Amino acid sequence: TPPTEGKMFIKALFDYDPNEDKAIPCKEAGLSFRKGDILQIMSQDDATWWQAKPEGDASPRAGLIPSKHFQERRLALRRPEILVQPLKVSNRKSSGFRRSFRLSRKDKKTNKSMYECRKSDQYDTADVPTYEEVTPYRRQNHEKYRLVVLVGPVGVGLNELKRKLLISDTQHYGVTVPHTTRARRSQESDGVEYIFISKHLFETDVQNNKFIEYGEYKNNYYGTSIDSVRSVLAKNKVCLLDVQPHTVKHLRTLEFKPYVIFIKPPSIERLRETRKNAKIVSSRDDQAAAKPFTEEDFQEMIKSAQIMESQYGHLFDKIIINDDLTVAFNELKATFDKLETETHWVPVSWLH
Ligand code: 5GP
Repeated sequence: TPPTEGKMFIKALFDYDPNEDKAIPCKEAGLSFRKGDILQIMSQDDATWWQAKPEGDASPRAGLIPSKHFQERRLALRRPEILVQPLKVSNRKSSGFRRSFRLSRKDKKTNKSMYECRKSDQYDTADVPTYEEVTPYRRQNHEKYRLVVLVGPVGVGLNELKRKLLISDTQHYGVTVPHTTRARRSQESDGVEYIFISKHLFETDVQNNKFIEYGEYKNNYYGTSIDSVRSVLAKNKVCLLDVQPHTVKHLRTLEFKPYVIFIKPPSIERLRETRKNAKIVSSRDDQAAAKPFTEEDFQEMIKSAQIMESQYGHLFDKIIINDDLTVAFNELKATFDKLETETHWVPVSWLH
């Protein structure tokens, strides 16, 4: 029997330091952890404080961590907007929803609705990342590491990193072929640069949720289909995909088991130093539209990275800072090598 059988593991979706927790009964007994850490649950007997230890830690001593319910509740209280949100997703008729929404907005000034919402347990806990139950996933022998999603702000160097990876081993890595509705150019062939389809078919495919993402450019549609990811994986290649972070949640399934890497910019000082003579490609791959970086581009990149990290940080499996391209590339490569050998932790919900 596998040694993990009968054990319960969770992935932490937030950083925790017991020394900064006013509520913990005994700080010395607390277990500190970082977002992304895998913890083994030793006891859930107490509704507020669970006992856990880092996964793989042989020592029998467990530490206290806030329970999921407790952590969700206090996080929701700190972010009152979460308390208002569930009314949007409830089963009420839309007129009813609008009324209650307005009511709670008005009452928010007096703090009354917050209390009422909490009492009725109506906040949407999905928006309060705390822990996710995970399980080790045993890969088939021939199976390469699934889908790797690269996310990061415009200009951070995601395309260069992707290209370097691809040319480092074209047998090993693959990228998706996008769909477009524009006419094929003479030097292009169908299925290589793009899959060329009609506007009508594109619109039908969008309606049938066949795209992970799509956009419009000069009156034509462009998009990445789910099937294009499947065909890369079917060749037993690691599929490299760069998308907006909000699309990641649609890919989090057992079929794709995405490993999400966030490419993060360094400090603004380092950006100014390292990108002085570089050019920014603002739309996906349009080299022709490349322009030198401006101070606003740097600020925008930092701001956008901060927003991505605060909104989607709990979905990132790895963060790589792209200060120096070669260093970042080596770190990326090392991450990939490790991925092929180490245990995958996948959410239990993917197995159902
Ligand atoms: P072109 O028509 O010159 O080949 O591409 C023009 C633009 O289409 C690219 O610069 C990029 O902005 C956009 N594009 C290409 N592929 C995709 C895709 O898969 N998804 C989206 N949203 N846009 C794409």
